[in-house]
Amino acid sequence: MSYLRRIIAYLFRDELTIKHKLVNVILGSALVVQLPGIIVTFIVGTTTAGIWAQVLMAAIIGTVLYLTNRFPDSPVPPILVSTLANLLVFPVMYFVCGGYATGIVIWMLFGSIFTWLLCDIKWSVIISIISFVLITGCLHIEKNYPQYVTFLETRNDEIMDTSMAFVFVTIIFGLIFKYQTHSYEKQADALKENDEKLRKLNDELAEANERLESASAAKSTFLANMSHEIRTPINAVLGMDEMILRECNDKQILEYANDIDSAGHQLLSLVNDILDFSKIESGKMELHPVEYELFSVMNDCYNMIFMRAKRKELHFSIRNNPEIPAFLFGDEVRIRQIIMNLLTNAVKYTKDGSVTLKFDYKKTDEENIDLIISVKDTGIGISEENKKYLFDSFKRIDERANRNIEGTGLGLSITKKFTEMMGGSIEVESVLYEGSTFTVTIPQKVADFSPVGHFDDRLNHRNDKLVKEEKESEAGKNDSFIAPHARILVVDDVKMNLNVVRLLLKNTQIQIDLAASGDECLKYTLLKRYDLILMDHMMPIMDGIEALHRVREQADGLNIETPVVALTANALVGAQEMYLEEGFAAYISKPVKSVDLEECLVRLLPKDKIEMVE
Ligand code: ADP
Repeated sequence: MSYLRRIIAYLFRDELTIKHKLVNVILGSALVVQLPGIIVTFIVGTTTAGIWAQVLMAAIIGTVLYLTNRFPDSPVPPILVSTLANLLVFPVMYFVCGGYATGIVIWMLFGSIFTWLLCDIKWSVIISIISFVLITGCLHIEKNYPQYVTFLETRNDEIMDTSMAFVFVTIIFGLIFKYQTHSYEKQADALKENDEKLRKLNDELAEANERLESASAAKSTFLANMSHEIRTPINAVLGMDEMILRECNDKQILEYANDIDSAGHQLLSLVNDILDFSKIESGKMELHPVEYELFSVMNDCYNMIFMRAKRKELHFSIRNNPEIPAFLFGDEVRIRQIIMNLLTNAVKYTKDGSVTLKFDYKKTDEENIDLIISVKDTGIGISEENKKYLFDSFKRIDERANRNIEGTGLGLSITKKFTEMMGGSIEVESVLYEGSTFTVTIPQKVADFSPVGHFDDRLNHRNDKLVKEEKESEAGKNDSFIAPHARILVVDDVKMNLNVVRLLLKNTQIQIDLAASGDECLKYTLLKRYDLILMDHMMPIMDGIEALHRVREQADGLNIETPVVALTANALVGAQEMYLEEGFAAYISKPVKSVDLEECLVRLLPKDKIEMVE
């Protein structure tokens, strides 16, 4: 019994496919019914050849059953058993076991159907056609040459043989179909179970996604807050420092103040880098294409880097193709940022020699060019193996050699991302200890094809003009306007920031009130009529946006229509649009630059209260 169970377990082992298990069902049951078949054949008294044919059939089935389990991946055993049974054994049995009056016809029918269950379509068709020809042939031979058929002895024997064949074939087919139904049901259950598992997994994924989304939203909020929190004190430091630089005459203190200024700006650019990087990562970075003058980009980059290079005794120059169109259309701010990142690196990583910024272009069609910007230095260079890490975020190469050079490893990765956002590309050529050349190619629309001219010629011309203007003005420290009759209110929860604005505007003689909260602002706006309100955004209890709305809705308020300017450290993308939509008249980002502040006041204060200073 246990032997039989082992055989059954072996024939239905898990690694077999359903089709294979089906082959085992068919062959196994065909083999099992052979034994009573032989006994019946014996009882009904057929010829010895008839019995032998049946024994041969059992042997064939047994061998194929063995082979098919020994070589489960081979298609040969089913084809072999089908061919031998249908084309050899059944026709022989037809003649030696009693012809069409016996069960052989049922067996032949079983053989044909059995082929379709076991073989692929091609073999099934071939074997069935041949079987059909053979069975028709057998019937015809029996009709025309009955002497070739060994008939059973009595009509009773024939009936018994036919009945047995009917019973056996029915049992075999019954088993086959039962097994198939059972397999399909099992499969359907497994599918259902899998479905259930998938549904659960999906639910879990959706939940995880939700958690991720809220984590990402929390990250954005954290960044916005961090941007505000860090920029606010930097604003105070830089603003106060600017006052020292403006008002102090002590050389030593001016030197300290200059150091504060440079470290403060460095810190600011670090915060900006981290913010830019996070914005790019979260897909919130947008491009803002505008029409711009290429010379002004060149000039600003020159001014910003010239002193830095000079301090390290590096020779800095700009070379350009004079034919580049003078006015282009693109994201000027990001292009400046790209150039400045490359120039800052070039100066940082060069001990002696020179840094050269080159501009060239290639016309791509009637309206567009590829702007080609390259920054070449004679610095420490980059080894071949390190080149592949250059644009990785937070990756600084040669950490040990560069440990004295400040940096986060973000500049080049941001530069590459900006370049790619604009549809451009960046390349680097470098020889260790000899120097590097970074080349950026950015497609730009042309706003005006008139040529930009030689940068050096235009720079000299402009410098001459500036020297002349400087000589004409008193010391260059004076503010551009005064407005002694104008009255403004500055609202900020950080006292230092209030002072910064007050001091920055000291020379304009504007009357300034300071409010340290939204609540305090609402008290002032009931008492005095202002020409302008400068309002911080992030304040505890009542933020700047709420304060603005409350000023607008104040019953008996004196400032329902007074322009309110958002003065805030929130420098995230879309901030400006958001403030204008909320009803602010303008937006100034912290740290406040006196030029921005003055430009805004000149634009928004009543014209009759402003006196421009020549
Ligand atoms: P970092 O803030 O460290 O300068 P970057 O992303 O700008 O970050 O640069 C990544 C690394 O690439 C730097 O740490 C430096 O090793 C190398 N690198 C960048 N520019 C140059 C250059 N002009 N010459 C040599 N090495 C450079």
